Amino acid sequence: MTEAWRPDDEDERFRRGARGSVKVRVPAKINLRLAVGPLRPDGYHELSTVYHAVALYDELTARRADTLTLTMDGEGTGELALDETNLVIRAVRALAAYARVPAQARLHLRKQIPLAGGLAGGSADAAAALVACDELWGIGLSRDELATLAASIGSDVPFLLHGGTALGTGRGEAVSPVLARPATWHWVLAMADGGLATPAVYAELDRLRAAGAAPDPVGPPDDLLAALRQRDPQVLAGALGNDLQPAALSLRPALAQVLDTGVAAGALAGLVSGSGPTCAFLARDTAQAETVADALHDAAVCRDVHLTHGAVPGARLI
Ligand code: ATP
Repeated sequence: MTEAWRPDDEDERFRRGARGSVKVRVPAKINLRLAVGPLRPDGYHELSTVYHAVALYDELTARRADTLTLTMDGEGTGELALDETNLVIRAVRALAAYARVPAQARLHLRKQIPLAGGLAGGSADAAAALVACDELWGIGLSRDELATLAASIGSDVPFLLHGGTALGTGRGEAVSPVLARPATWHWVLAMADGGLATPAVYAELDRLRAAGAAPDPVGPPDDLLAALRQRDPQVLAGALGNDLQPAALSLRPALAQVLDTGVAAGALAGLVSGSGPTCAFLARDTAQAETVADALHDAAVCRDVHLTHGAVPGARLI
């Protein structure tokens, strides 16, 4: 990795950072298409995915301090460790080491994105931490430098910096924007009780494939990219797909009822988000989304329901 700036500039830049607090808002992601290729020698699967950032946000506030501390409220409070294993702390330490500044900040995380929900909440928080401390410390890294640091923290982190709708390749960390005129897509998210560990879902997919019990892979996303350009939700609905869905359903059979309930209520399509267990339903408009959300709520098949939309920007100062 290249140096962020000449050592002589270091003190000056650090002094120039924000004096008050810095607040960053970061969205959750769903995968409109998630094609899982073979297991690579490094233990990751080769992916071809279309990420889509939706308006369900975590917020990270950062203030100057003499030490590094993290507090939180909202989703996962009391459950999520706030120590060195937290992706916020890992991101802050990575940025501080790269920029050669002391890792000192008072951080508070307000979490709406459920833990281990297949919505990349942890990666989102890491992206927020990079943007927040870059500003707090007056570092001023380029988007490319931030993306390189992000990829060293986790596969989904570069996308959460980027936001919008984007193609992810490699292990998901190589992100390129999807070129389509901006459109708003309406989604309903059904949050489950308890999470699913991403490695367990990939392992279950490997097991199903080895046993010849996995459906045909969803394949590369060319038709999905064409559907996005068409801006017709019915066409997009037909192109959604997730290779991890059968594995998530195998580990959590009750998700089948969630998917059936949303589709029976009129959703154009329903799919497991990433590694699950959150399910995402595409609706034609807000009215249809409300009908789907009400049906999911009334059937009591999930812990919580969120109406949302995409695509929205990635981690941004507010
Ligand atoms: P993905 O969709 O990227 O597979 P996910 O949405 O299923 O991720 P996350 O909530 O991003 O799951 O996090 C997975 C695990 O990462 C959690 O179970 C937790 O142990 C760990 N983790 C570390 N820091 C965080 C954080 N700030 N927020 C959430 N999880 C975190």
